Amino acid sequence: MKVAFLGLGVMGFPMAGHLKARGFDVTVYNRTEAKAKEWVAKHGGQHGATPAAAARGAEIVFMCVGNDNDLLQVAGGAEGALAGMSAGTILVDHTTASADAARKLYDLAKAQGVSFIDAPVSGGQAGAENGKLTVMCGGDPTAFDKAKPVMDSYGKAVTLMGASGAGQLTKMVNQICIAGLVQALSEGIAFAEKAKLDPLLVLEVISKGAAQSWQMENRGKTMVERKFNFGFAVDWMRKDLGICMEEAKRNGAKLPVTELIDKFYAEVQAAGGSRFDTSSLITRL
Ligand code: NAP
Repeated sequence: MKVAFLGLGVMGFPMAGHLKARGFDVTVYNRTEAKAKEWVAKHGGQHGATPAAAARGAEIVFMCVGNDNDLLQVAGGAEGALAGMSAGTILVDHTTASADAARKLYDLAKAQGVSFIDAPVSGGQAGAENGKLTVMCGGDPTAFDKAKPVMDSYGKAVTLMGASGAGQLTKMVNQICIAGLVQALSEGIAFAEKAKLDPLLVLEVISKGAAQSWQMENRGKTMVERKFNFGFAVDWMRKDLGICMEEAKRNGAKLPVTELIDKFYAEVQAAGGSRFDTSSLITRL
């Protein structure tokens, strides 16, 4: 099957690599062309000069870019993905964006006979590299059934959550659950240090009990070492928390801790940590 992947960042680069490894005929696009050339040199396949050029002839087009605006730019517009896609094909978006942007693109795609699936992911850089992402989807079941086996190339759990936008709403729940937890982990580690305990030994022990979490398992050690030059950027987390808070205004959900943690992340940004991993919350302490 001929597929395309648009956006070769921390996530997209390895995700597209898994598609190639599974035997798909992959054409990639990246705004900074050097990255696309680097991908082709590593994996084979080919690259297109614009999203439309890369998408032309593909049965399924995947994308993973930054925020709502980036998404609308790369999918729509004269040189956007949809301009290169024909009726009967599928556009899958792995960007974390608003449910509104997903529904907008669903309608835009539908008008030209293209199916759109919002499919944000969780599992971080390591999940993308190991091909073990959780993929939360919104859209039509027929299109999902066709795209799922392809997404299985990098997903360990690929699930249709409901109609268009349901994938993004599920990802919002995911981010709400993470925000307070990273702060709690930061406070725990900082407390262990003040208490003159060995923080790595503490984490090793308590990760076998009720305090265990993905963040503790995957970020605890690097937090103790104050290493943040990898992973999920603070800028992206603030974008995600902004999306959650906007949606909560609409649906009436209360997010007191999420709002507080968003302010803490603004402080990390102001101190120069925009591209730090989200575990850098501990630097405030
Ligand atoms: P990243 O490393 O910053 O990469 C972003 C990619 O999008 C780059 O390829 C960038 O191109 C491209 N891009 C951004 N704006 C664009 C535009 N207007 N036009 C064309 N290309 C554009 O980000 P990432 O960490 O891979 O994250 C991508 C998405 O996945 C985000 O929505 C993020 O919230 C989400 N996500 C990330 C993680 C994680 O752990 N990193 C986990 C789950 C979800 P250039 O190379 O030219 O800049």
